Amino acid sequence: MAGSITEYRNLIGGALVPAADGRTLDSVNPATGEVWARIPASGRTDADAAVTAARKAFPGWSGMPALGRAGFLREVAEYLWRIAAGDVLDAVKGDTVILGPDTLGLTRREPYGVVLGIIPWNSPISTFSAKAAYALAAGNTVIVKPAEQACASVLRLGELLADVLPPGVLNIVSGLGEEVGDALVRHRGVGKISLTGSTQTGQAITRASADSLKPLTFELGGKSPNIVFADADLDAAAQGVTVNSVYTGNAGQVCVAGSRILIQRPVWDEMIERVAAVAGGLTLADPLDLATTMGPIVSAGQYERVTGYLEIAEKEGAELVFGGTTGASVVPSMPGGYWVAPTLYTTTDNSLRVCQEEIFGPVAVAIPFDTDEEALAISNDSSYGLAAGVWTRDLGRAHRFVRDLQSGTVWVNTFRQMPPGLPFGGVKDSGYGHDSVLAYTREKAAIIQT
Ligand code: NAD
Repeated sequence: MAGSITEYRNLIGGALVPAADGRTLDSVNPATGEVWARIPASGRTDADAAVTAARKAFPGWSGMPALGRAGFLREVAEYLWRIAAGDVLDAVKGDTVILGPDTLGLTRREPYGVVLGIIPWNSPISTFSAKAAYALAAGNTVIVKPAEQACASVLRLGELLADVLPPGVLNIVSGLGEEVGDALVRHRGVGKISLTGSTQTGQAITRASADSLKPLTFELGGKSPNIVFADADLDAAAQGVTVNSVYTGNAGQVCVAGSRILIQRPVWDEMIERVAAVAGGLTLADPLDLATTMGPIVSAGQYERVTGYLEIAEKEGAELVFGGTTGASVVPSMPGGYWVAPTLYTTTDNSLRVCQEEIFGPVAVAIPFDTDEEALAISNDSSYGLAAGVWTRDLGRAHRFVRDLQSGTVWVNTFRQMPPGLPFGGVKDSGYGHDSVLAYTREKAAIIQT
């Protein structure tokens, strides 16, 4: 029904505008498969307009006293859960070095100019908040490029913020990654890029930005191990490896999903039973219903990808414990939606593709182990290094795993806590750097001879 379809617009230079050539993309409700909104399909002209607006706004924004910026950000915080207003002062602190009786060394932190934040579909508001808040606090002006599959919430935020910040300080431009995303990445007027997205997109952006040598921050994909030792609190572990990891919270479409569940052999049977019981208690239904605990896959394309991995798992010989079913049979009341049931396979072979490749859906693989050394070797046998969970009551072992796991974050007896005060980023193919106020500044040195 065309009348009920919401039309969203870009935020450029303080104005809410369609794409310059009027093109749009459909936004599909993944629970039903129906179009519910349209977003601008922006191109090079829109990229140019956003960079021009952000550059125009930069002198006024960066030249404002830090506490003035903090005042604006407090107003923005009315709309966002995560904000860096309190961090603003970090961006203007510098060092003083006495180089000699008449020689003084100083450092100054300066903003990059226009920061481009490229965000994924799986957590648009929190990734938007982290990038925009820190970059703005540091004195940059910002362009955010949300993901085409799920950007209505970010464009709606643009509507709410249009009158809060001075024109051009924050710009939001939607459209395809390889079109408007690529145009922005290559733009000479952009001073720094921060991407949260897949490893492949990180590689594409590295290549596309090479000519202009832009500094990059990459928070990329993962294949995180969640390691359950026999001495763990198994009640807590069963919750931690399922609901707060690979099944609920975006149906496993989470960068840190603990999609490899390593279980020490003495508790193998018990843990598999507990995981099955937790997964069996989930409610798959309309995501707008508050009783729902697990929703659909985001798009038709991602649905094909996830179901493709179910076939791969079977061909590779992984053993199905539960789930594996897809489509209309999962949520019969929503037959057109992209539904995949919570799924668990087991294997003893960590080299299988379902153990090595990011599936980004409610699909986990359980792998048994005997010793600490074996658990560590299996965990680190991955091209990714985003996060890891360790479930044990042995404090010495917990510290050894914190030290030895090749991972940006290690959670011990908890999972998926990401407090703003701690860095969140990856190693290996999971990226480098992390969003913070300091990440959006560069240092200048001065030597003053008196
Ligand atoms: P994606 O890489 O396909 O897209 C991410 C963003 O990049 C989108 O806005 C997209 O339009 C844009 N993009 C794609 N190609 C581009 C190009 N050539 N130039 C410029 N921009 C381009 O990722 P996705 O499918 O939206 O999100 C899922 C991925 O994100 C997973 O791999 C997940 O692990 C990762 N992720 C990581 C974190 C983290 O903090 N480490 C958090 C959330 C998601």
